[in-house]
Amino acid sequence: MDFQLSEEQNLVRESAISMVELDIQPILNAHPADRPLPKAAMRELFAITARQGLMAPRIPPTEGGVGMKMLDYGLIFECLPAWFAVSIMAHEVTAARIFAEATAEQRRSFMPGLLSGQNIAGSATSEPGAGSDPRGMTTRVEVDGDSAIINGRKLWVSNGTVADILAVTCIDGVDAKGRNTLTRVVVEPAVCSVEIRDIETVGLQQGHLSEARFEDCRVPAKNVLSAGGDAARMLTVTWNGNRPLVGLAAVGLTQKAFDQAANYAGVREQFGKVIAGHQLVQRNLADIETAILSSRLLCYRALDMIDRGERENGAAAMAKRHATKNCEAAISLAMQVHGGMGITREAGLEQLWRDVRMLSVPDGTDDILTLIQGREITGIAAFR
Ligand SMILES: Cc1cc2nc3c(=O)[nH]c(=O)nc-3n(C[C@H](O)[C@H](O)[C@H](O)COP(=O)(O)OP(=O)(O)OC[C@H]3O[C@@H](n4cnc5c(N)ncnc54)[C@H](O)[C@@H]3O)c2cc1C
Repeated sequence: MDFQLSEEQNLVRESAISMVELDIQPILNAHPADRPLPKAAMRELFAITARQGLMAPRIPPTEGGVGMKMLDYGLIFECLPAWFAVSIMAHEVTAARIFAEATAEQRRSFMPGLLSGQNIAGSATSEPGAGSDPRGMTTRVEVDGDSAIINGRKLWVSNGTVADILAVTCIDGVDAKGRNTLTRVVVEPAVCSVEIRDIETVGLQQGHLSEARFEDCRVPAKNVLSAGGDAARMLTVTWNGNRPLVGLAAVGLTQKAFDQAANYAGVREQFGKVIAGHQLVQRNLADIETAILSSRLLCYRALDMIDRGERENGAAAMAKRHATKNCEAAISLAMQVHGGMGITREAGLEQLWRDVRMLSVPDGTDDILTLIQGREITGIAAFR
């Protein structure tokens, strides 16, 4: 067991930090912090990150991916601005799903634009009536000759309004147990009838979290992905990979809050000395540091298990739930260390707090993650 990053991993991390400082942050600073970025700026950001191989870490190099280890991807992920990390993940997980479920001909048609980052992608799965339980969805696809027709409404589509490609999960039938069977359909919003709008949210506000309405949305029948079997299984597999990544986005936000709090505690004086010298302030700092390190290690471990091909369901669920829950509490503590300053816009901590609050919902809410871990421990599914 080695708790140190290798020399190569340190380089990966350092180059991610310098990419964010030199290339990404100036673009973000040129736009309001509380509005979704325009598509032109998103394209610039995707071009920058494509050069680092972030468009397709889960696709083998023989198929145009970079074959990056998930752990290395996680190291980079932790350094990205959290909303952009979610956006990149939405893109690359969509590419991974399309790749896994496409025929050779469909791969030839869809993959080049996704791998190069020229086409921005998102996955439309959640619906007003179906979130944690995707089999409860009602969006339906019906094939009519050369066309496939989609009807339904999707919510919380990351990258929705800026996407060139949406992978829309739809019902296409019923299995022997009477459950809906799911399939994925590739939709190009620019050339079909889908209405997409951004939803205002409490955090991650430079990103795009969108609603999409499909009304007799006709796409070529060849866009129905037909090589992957039931699309519900691929959702589970890819969510397992997403969970520790989302946990690391929470860690990245909390590290910023911690650095700021430790710094402030070293200069702010009360009762005749710096507050860092008061025992209870030290406890707050110690709690924040513990939240960061425990979350980081659990997320790294889950990603390493994926790299080793071990069963990661419980570990990934544990990592994300621990990270988002503890990091949210830790950022709140960092605000507390700042006293009144902590709740001002000026200090910037409130934005970290609002951003981290978003992360306990996607790719499995805390409750669902608890049930996944519980199922791994007991062998009993307690969802229904
Ligand atoms: C930042 C962000 C990005 C997202 N990106 C995408 C995306 O790209 N594509 C997409 O399709 N969706 C996306 N989502 C949506 C997300 O996946 C769903 O919001 C999530 O799955 C929860 O679904 P829901 O909101 O319908 O809540 P519900 O499933 O309705 O849950 C409501 C509450 O009930 C609890 N609950 C539900 N079932 C159980 C149970 N069996 N036992 C105990 N408690 C339960 C939940 O934990 C939750 O507290 C995103 C969401 C966010 C916040």
